[in-house]
Amino acid sequence: MRKKIVAGNWKMNLEYSEGISLFSEIVNMVRDEKKGDQTVVICSPFIHLNSLAQLGNGVVKIGAQNCHQNESGAYTGEISAKMIKSTGSEYVLVGHSERRQYFAESDELLASKTVIALQHNLVPIFCIGETLDERNNGSYYHVLETQLENGVFGLSAEDFGKVILAYEPVWAIGTGLTASPEQAQDIHAFIRAKIDAKYGMSVADDTTILYGGSCNPKNAAELFAQHDIDGGLIGGASLKSRDFVDIVK
Ligand code: PGA
Repeated sequence: MRKKIVAGNWKMNLEYSEGISLFSEIVNMVRDEKKGDQTVVICSPFIHLNSLAQLGNGVVKIGAQNCHQNESGAYTGEISAKMIKSTGSEYVLVGHSERRQYFAESDELLASKTVIALQHNLVPIFCIGETLDERNNGSYYHVLETQLENGVFGLSAEDFGKVILAYEPVWAIGTGLTASPEQAQDIHAFIRAKIDAKYGMSVADDTTILYGGSCNPKNAAELFAQHDIDGGLIGGASLKSRDFVDIVK
């Protein structure tokens, strides 16, 4: 049985105290409203991680939005997977399209980040997605397959089994444009078929694949009802407690 997950991605938002109050609201509401088999995660900026991990009390889990690919050392300004783990965080986003786009993170670099995250027992939420041009020129299946092959298909079946995938079409992120439930289901089924071809059906069946891109309380139910969509990665709507918890519901 694959896990159902709703993960918020706060991106570069919220001062320290703002993050603490928003998170406290979310924990209180989630405690009342989440169903037993759901996992709720907030991926916060680094400054919040340790405090949130304590406040979350297992009700809401914590993740970082990025990690460095090396263990430790002279990398001024960077944060390692081991350091993230030491805050009590359990997850880390790897390969969000904003990292790929603005920080030139390649599939190969992201493969190293995934490996080091796993070595430190963090669950990587590995993001893939095509741009609008790639959607329009029809190359998107190929793009997604390449991101999977170079990013995570080098892992052993055992390690791959610990990874969560997120399909986030770049054209839908922060734009208010959402993939239709049919478009999203089509890609999720494609991803699952690729996992089946690589690792076999039982691994494919057990892999949690999230949808992200302008997910909101109005469209979440229909998206999450699709057979191969196991939850969502939520950007803008995770900055409002009511909206985020309505998505969880
Ligand atoms: P969005 O962001 O929900 O604001 O579109 C999703 C994401 O970037 O993870």
